[in-house]
Formats: sequence, structure tokens, C-alpha cells
Amino acid sequence: MSRIVSVNQIEDVMNEAYELYRDHEGGKNASYIPYLEQIPSNLFGISICFPNGKIIEVGDTDYAFGIESISKVLTTILVLQQYNDETLLDKIGADATGLPFNSIMAILLENNHPSTPLVNAGAISACSLIQPIGNSEVKWEKIMRNMEQLCGSPLTLIEELYESESKTNFNNRSITWLLKNIGRIYDEPEMALDLYTKQCSLGVTCSQLAICASTIANGGWNSVSSKLIFDSGIATKILSLMATFGFYEKTGEWIYSTGLPVKTGVGGGIMGLLPGVFGISAFAPPIDEAGNSVKAQLALKHIMQKLHLHIYDRDKIELRY
Ligand code: GLN
Repeated sequence: MSRIVSVNQIEDVMNEAYELYRDHEGGKNASYIPYLEQIPSNLFGISICFPNGKIIEVGDTDYAFGIESISKVLTTILVLQQYNDETLLDKIGADATGLPFNSIMAILLENNHPSTPLVNAGAISACSLIQPIGNSEVKWEKIMRNMEQLCGSPLTLIEELYESESKTNFNNRSITWLLKNIGRIYDEPEMALDLYTKQCSLGVTCSQLAICASTIANGGWNSVSSKLIFDSGIATKILSLMATFGFYEKTGEWIYSTGLPVKTGVGGGIMGLLPGVFGISAFAPPIDEAGNSVKAQLALKHIMQKLHLHIYDRDKIELRY
């Protein structure tokens, strides 16, 4: 069975979500990375990109904020392109840890395995896997280029954020060396940590993230730049990872109530995707205890529930432009 949903309907509900939550006061900017603490807390935007490249948006959708953990999804795509899904499973994993994104305990509990490329341990491990091994400059070029192709336009490193994060990433350094000790870092450890920190410090706008999400939802086809960025089989793996742990230790509850596979970042961004329907992103700096943007999650939840768009629904959604 299929059900028709129009772009106008989606736009109305998106605007409604924006109005409902624009003055919501829950959450706090991330403070463990000093740069993030001083970003204006009232920024708020929502963007949606459809399979034909049409974009609808509201609010602060052209403000470049720190992509942070959302970058983990983009670099996982590169790992899957350079290797294959079996290698990713073997070297990093595809499981939920049930613990916070920066947990050291999770590595120990999971039999010395990073579990998933969507937590810090797995993402640092993924950066170490990027080829060419041993060449940080070319590795960075590949990571950055891949992200730009997914987003369909140039990205800029937020130098101040990179510096702020590099000066305070002691926990991530511990994770890196623990992983090295158990054979889960596949290149020079400090290089892997630096690449990870750098990718998290890239500035991205809500519009760019929605385009990136829709590229994944379209099985690798970026409909804004009209380019095929990756093989369609990769999208199903990415969606599985996102649905399993994209919302950290609250992912089960999130998928249960919204049906939207997402990836969040402590910079306040959330990127979500529904194959064949849209790529969506929302941004607002204040986050909850798990590290997920409060306003962005409320807005996305409202849109998904009001339009009955749950990914596991029996009915196929037919978009009307
Ligand atoms: N760079 C951040 C960190 O390593 C990313 C965390 C996040 O967005 N969840 O802590």
C-alpha cells in the first residue's frame, strides 16, 4: 500500500515545528569544548531536501556550525568505499554500546572492540583506516573531499573550534591509546586522533546537512550536484548503523517514537533520512545529557509524528511535488 504526502504538507508541518519550539528553553550548549559554549544558543533552523533536489527550509539554515559527531557517518561512507562492509564489521563493528558516545568503559565491555563507527572510539579507528595509510595530508584531503561531495558544496574548517577541541581532547586521547593497545588503530595513533578532531571541527550549514542526508537517502545520488557519490549498497549499511546508534544511548526510544534514523552532534546538529522521501536536518546548540540537540529533536519528532512517516510503517510514502 502507498500513501501520498505532498511537499506543501511537509512544509506546513516543518514551519509549525519551528514556531512551536523556537522559544523552547531546554538544554545547554556543550561546555566541555569551550568554542561550543559561546555559540548563540537561540540559533535554530530546519532544512529538508527531496529526491529531486528541491529544498525547503526555515530559520538559521545558513549558519555554519561544528558538524561534530555527524561527521562520523560521512567518514564511514568513505571507509565502506575504500574497503567493504565485512571489513568494517570486523575492524570496527556495527553494534549499539548502550553507553555515552565517549565511553572508555564501552570498549572494555565489548571485548576490546570499538562497537560502531558512530561513537568516538569507532570513529577514531575509522580515521586510522582511511587510505593512504601513513599520509595524513592525503587522508585529510580524502575525508574532506568526501564530505564536500556528500554535501554538494565546499566546507570550511572552523579553526577556533579545531584549536579549542585539540586543547581539551584528553578523553579522546585516552580512547585512542587504549585502542592502539588492543590493535584497533590501523595507522599512527596521534594522526588518527588529529584527523578525527579536525573532521569534527568542520563547519556545516543545515542546508548542506539536508543535502548530505538526501544523498544517502537517494542511495548515493546527490540530486543538487547531479553526481553519484557512492554505490547504493552502502546506503543500507549507513541507515542500519544510524538506526542502531545514531541517537546514542537513547536510540531505541528515539526510533520507537519517531521512526527516523538520525545522527546527532554536540554542535547542535541532527541529520536524518527517510529513503525515497527526504533528507532532513535541524540545528540548535543547546543539548541534553546524551549530547543531542533539544530543539532539533523536538522539531524532528513533531514532523515525523504529525505526518506519520515512521520508517517501519507498512505503507510506502509517495511524494507529491
Ligand atoms: N568531537 C566531539 C567529541 O569527540 C564529538 C562528540 C559528539 O558530537 N557527540 O567529543
